[in-house]
Amino acid sequence: MPATIPLQDSVVYGPVQSRRLGASLGINLLPLTRKVCSSNCVYCQYGWTEPADASGEGLRRAPELLEEIAAAFQAHAAAGTRVDHITLAGNGEPTLHPDLPELVEGLRRLRDVSFPAARLGILTDATQVRRPRVREALARLDDRYLKFDAADPATWQRINLPLVRLSFDDFVDALKAVPGSILQSMFIQGTYDNTGEAHVAAWIRAVGEIRPLAVQVYTVDRGTAAEGITEVPRAELETIATRLTWMTGVPAEVFD
Ligand code: SF4
Repeated sequence: MPATIPLQDSVVYGPVQSRRLGASLGINLLPLTRKVCSSNCVYCQYGWTEPADASGEGLRRAPELLEEIAAAFQAHAAAGTRVDHITLAGNGEPTLHPDLPELVEGLRRLRDVSFPAARLGILTDATQVRRPRVREALARLDDRYLKFDAADPATWQRINLPLVRLSFDDFVDALKAVPGSILQSMFIQGTYDNTGEAHVAAWIRAVGEIRPLAVQVYTVDRGTAAEGITEVPRAELETIATRLTWMTGVPAEVFD
């Protein structure tokens, strides 16, 4: 497994070529020198969340960020850069930003000017979706990709290490309250493993209750924060995805 990757060193980065999203221009609302996240996933490609900072305090405010994003969009549009998706992600958890609603509205305006055909989406650990302001901001996006790797509190604590006060039941209830979501589920093996039969069966039941539009099943392809994590063979991921769709009717696709 290669090493973890460096943090993004700009607000707008990429476009990243992704099988899931095509040419995706990333938006990083978080600092350029440290990760700010409400989770501390053992498989995080950026390494550990250190210090364990989920406060969202001291972040650059919306007007300054949008000015920088506007300049980058204009430069990419002038250069003829292909952009299929614009994705809020970056150095941690984008929903921790206190100006998320203003930023989403600003991004919609800038998208309409520079890349009107591009879809605007977010990758989120979903620990903040219980907050009305976050849910309203998510509703203004085209796509909502919510992380859902664990089907029980113990696995959630072991793999995602949430850094916020939130019970697992409240987390799942919040996921159910987001209409039109796409779940992203990471499966891993080695020192941490969420592919055992009991866990996969519980995960299928939970996804069936959340009722997302679809599920993206994937595994690690980069370095991870914790040592000894290994990728799950594609055939095993295909089996999990097929079982999910057969048992619940929720479409599932495997990405590696
Ligand atoms: S939610 Fe994303 S950025 Fe945060 S620790 Fe997990 S993988 Fe890393």
